[in-house]
Order: sequence, then C-alpha cells, then structure tokens
Amino acid sequence: MDTRTSESSAGTYVCGRSLEDFLKAIENFHGWKAPGMMLGGFMVDLAQRQIGPDVEADAIVETCHCLPDAVQIFTPCTVGNGWLKILDWDKFALSLYDRRKLTGHRVSLDLEKTRAFPNLYNWYMRRVPKKDLPLEVLHKTILEAKTAVLSSRAISVTRLNTRKKKGETDICSGCGEAYPTNQGRQCTACQGDGYYEFD
Ligand SMILES: [Zn+2]
Repeated sequence: MDTRTSESSAGTYVCGRSLEDFLKAIENFHGWKAPGMMLGGFMVDLAQRQIGPDVEADAIVETCHCLPDAVQIFTPCTVGNGWLKILDWDKFALSLYDRRKLTGHRVSLDLEKTRAFPNLYNWYMRRVPKKDLPLEVLHKTILEAKTAVLSSRAISVTRLNTRKKKGETDICSGCGEAYPTNQGRQCTACQGDGYYEFD
C-alpha cells in the first residue's frame, strides 16, 4: 500500500509540519539538509500515517545513518528514552509499532521505485561521484519523489520490543565507578574491553 503525503491548499504537510518547517527542523538538528534525513523524514511521515494518529509507537531503524536522527526529530522516540532501537544493518528502513500490541508498519526505500527518479537511485547506489550530483539537484528530486520511492508493509514485531531494565549496581574494584554487576566481577573496561586509556 502506498499512501501519498497529504496535500492541502496550504501546501504539503510532512510529519505534521509545513514543508518549510520540516526542512528547517532537519537543518537545525542535523546541521545540514542531508538527503538521507529528508528521505528519512518522508519515511517517518508514511509510517505515522499507516499506524494512525493515536498510537503510542516505538521505533526500530535498520541503519546508523540518518534514520535515527529522522526518528528523533519527528517522533517522541529517542535513543535516550529507549523507545528507539538502532540496528547496524545499513538498510534504509524503519518501523514504527504500537508498543503494546506490537503491530505496526515497516517503511523502506524501494529501489525499484527509485528507478523512476534516477538521481535518487544513483545517489543511494553511489553510481555517480558527488561532484556530478549537486545537493540542490538531489534535494529537488527527493521533494518531487516524496513517498513515491517508499514501500510500506504491516508487521508484527517479534523481537527487540522489550525495554532494557536496569539490573543490580555495584562499585567496580578496578576503577571505583558504579557498574552493573551482570558484567562480572569488574566493569567491562577493567576486564580489558574498554575503548580508552587514560593519558
Ligand atoms: Zn572498572
């Protein structure tokens, strides 16, 4: 099923905002109008329309690039509140689902549909060097395409829906910092799996 972004006499609304506000929100949060963020915004918009307005939704995104930010701007789900989960699969797809019923919609970039928008296809598949595909051109294509390059399917979530609970906490004998005891006798860093050395 393919739902188009709604049009009204006032123009296009994306994620409940005017197109201008939508683009401004991306630029403010992300620093620039990244094409992936714009596409991501349309993906969130489509998913929100599919699941309907009164659903308390959790989110799962399938790439670390751009989509997590799109979800954090345009939904109440963030990494920090635990309602957004990020899979490092490098697939341009996201799901919003009812956190109680575990039903929702997965929206993905549909490569077949992007063939009607060669700039988008070439950008996503990295078929042309950046210098040959100016950002303004790509922006224009994305705004033409809107949700027309996306596919959406109803899903039931079968995993990853549980929210992390905090376990027991103790003081690490190595570093003296508080850590969850399920990591073992000492914290992960003191067991040798840290990512830093002190200078
Ligand atoms: Zn420690």
